[in-house]
Amino acid sequence: MAEYITSGDSDEMGNVIFFNNRGNKQLSFDFVPGSLQLDGTDAVTYYVDETRPSGNVSVEESTSAIVASMDTWEAASCSELGITRIPSDGRPTGFYSALLGFGGSFSYVADVVHGGWLPGIFFDRLRPNGSRSILGVTFTIIYVDGNGNPVDTNNDNKGDVAWREIYYNDNFTWSAGASPGFDIETVSLHEVGHGLSQAHFGKAFRTTSNGKLHFSPRAVMNATYSGVQTTVDGTDNAGHCSIWGNWPKN
Ligand SMILES: [Zn+2]
Repeated sequence: MAEYITSGDSDEMGNVIFFNNRGNKQLSFDFVPGSLQLDGTDAVTYYVDETRPSGNVSVEESTSAIVASMDTWEAASCSELGITRIPSDGRPTGFYSALLGFGGSFSYVADVVHGGWLPGIFFDRLRPNGSRSILGVTFTIIYVDGNGNPVDTNNDNKGDVAWREIYYNDNFTWSAGASPGFDIETVSLHEVGHGLSQAHFGKAFRTTSNGKLHFSPRAVMNATYSGVQTTVDGTDNAGHCSIWGNWPKN
């Protein structure tokens, strides 16, 4: 499965309400504690692939932004994730990039892998016009049984996650903080929300007269970018805590 965030000015979003996700703020798949964690620990590990840099932000700046977003989720007071970075060492990463012919590796690297920036044509494979509408995407790779059905070893009614990987669309202009461009930390914070099993949340409206977006509530987990947002608000925190508040007991 894949969750993506759009740039907010793509035509196919159409007119008034273009998304409305008021579910339980959780994806239907989640990590499981203990032996099924591929690294054998309950800590959430992550890796930043620095071999696929953005076309217009330095690797140093983009990695700093990604690390900052990981630190923001780690700082949530309701959870003890033990988020740990595995140092970048140039190894190939990316199950989905490998699958779609953009290089990579089918091997486990970390629980959450930032696979770097890929060309627009990768995103066209995800949905029509994806190269011009999708900013970033998070893939969830799950365990299946011999019949291809999701495995749920801890009976939490969520399929067991092997790992997640995040890609950014290099067809857009990116920035580290200042405009113009899409802020890397903001998009990373959103994608890592998916990486930590949160779903989209909130309604977006476009005012026809001036084309401006309005959000209700505005949240990191809105499905559309709406400017720099590098802190988690109440809605995002509640969604996070509902998933991770008891980890690793759930
Ligand atoms: Zn998203």
